[in-house]
Amino acid sequence: MSKKYQFETLQIHAGQKPDPVTKATGVPLYLSNAFTFDSADQAKNIFALEEGGYFYSRLSNPTVDVLQQRMAALDGGVGAVAFASGTAAIMGLIMTVCQSGDEIIAANNLYGGTIGSLSGTMQGMGFTSHFVNPRDLDTMENLINEKTKMIFVESVGNPNGDMLDFDAISEICHRHGLLFVVDNTTPTPYLFRPIEHGADLVVYSTTKYIAGHGNVMGGIIVDSGRFDWHNERYPLMTTPDKAYHDIVYADLGQEAFCTKAVAKTLRDLGGCMSPFNAYMTLLGLETLSLRMDKHVENSRKIAEFLQNHEKVEWVSYAELKGHSSYDLCQKYFPKGFGGLFTFGVKGGLEAGKSVINHIQLFTHVTNFADSRSLLTHPASTTHAQMSEEERLAGGVQQGTIRISVGLENVDDLIADLNQAFDQI
Ligand code: PLP
Repeated sequence: MSKKYQFETLQIHAGQKPDPVTKATGVPLYLSNAFTFDSADQAKNIFALEEGGYFYSRLSNPTVDVLQQRMAALDGGVGAVAFASGTAAIMGLIMTVCQSGDEIIAANNLYGGTIGSLSGTMQGMGFTSHFVNPRDLDTMENLINEKTKMIFVESVGNPNGDMLDFDAISEICHRHGLLFVVDNTTPTPYLFRPIEHGADLVVYSTTKYIAGHGNVMGGIIVDSGRFDWHNERYPLMTTPDKAYHDIVYADLGQEAFCTKAVAKTLRDLGGCMSPFNAYMTLLGLETLSLRMDKHVENSRKIAEFLQNHEKVEWVSYAELKGHSSYDLCQKYFPKGFGGLFTFGVKGGLEAGKSVINHIQLFTHVTNFADSRSLLTHPASTTHAQMSEEERLAGGVQQGTIRISVGLENVDDLIADLNQAFDQI
């Protein structure tokens, strides 16, 4: 679809043509595992990566393909590859470009599950991850060596909502010929487009705002198409691959990353997105801009309410003056910060638990980015497997409450918080 269209148009139309057989206007759900070949030669060509085409849904599927093309269009990328979950997409990204012995520099305020995967399972497989404060650019740069394959950050630190200087990190990465990878799950491409600030690869848990209804898991990697893979740091991209007649992925230019992510990572590790999940995600994606505007509007009112409430000790919402990320938020997020932030009530852990135990309209879960409003206690859930030191480095105190502001009437949400505060 033509790049001239704006975000709101692309979120409804990109990647889709009316179904050629039925003329259906909605995206058809193709649950088929396999697709027939026209001839033996066509089958041979598809298997040799000499011709495109659907043949087996672990690698490619028409419904999943619409989601991939739509996300690439919304993010300003050249292609995208969908996975079964956000975690599968992050691990798939790493496995596409890294091998045992490689090193990753990661922000210390990533989603707790990602920190767990990088420091646990991936460590066991021979990868080393260094976790750094993403604002400490000197430490970040000093950790780069010849084994380093990427700097991995989240565009909004989860749960604390702290932000970073994307342009500065991009400059460091590219001076060292290094990949800059951004997990953009929290703002979505509607509020922030990392590729415009130097990201080479962008990854999402589509489980969150992209689908938006809290009923479907998924993940996706979007490729900017700008990284030059003819780079000795990435032998997996520059060494001929015997599995495909000695293909050199770097020689494929803008198709290099997505081709390898499908032909090797999905083929060998198998974490593909189900077509049903792609279909459900596309239903949500059509209204992303409307939903994000509403999440922002409701969040602003709730942040202000919390800031003025006598039982609230602190609110970490980057649009509030005095927040340590205020200037970065103004620079990078002109449409608004989003719907996920944290606060603490006076009285610490016990008071925080009391709020969570007395909410009626909010739901107590570990998820975020639902149309429903949610509260989480990170120290006992999402960040429970970290040491106290790691947790504090990520900005999570014992009494921190994470709030994911939904799409309900904001007065109802404020009334619910008020009655819960009354019972502390
Ligand atoms: N990235 C971020 C920022 C997340 O918050 C999460 C999950 O909460 C993930 C990745 C992992 O996504 P999933 O739960 O879809 O595997």
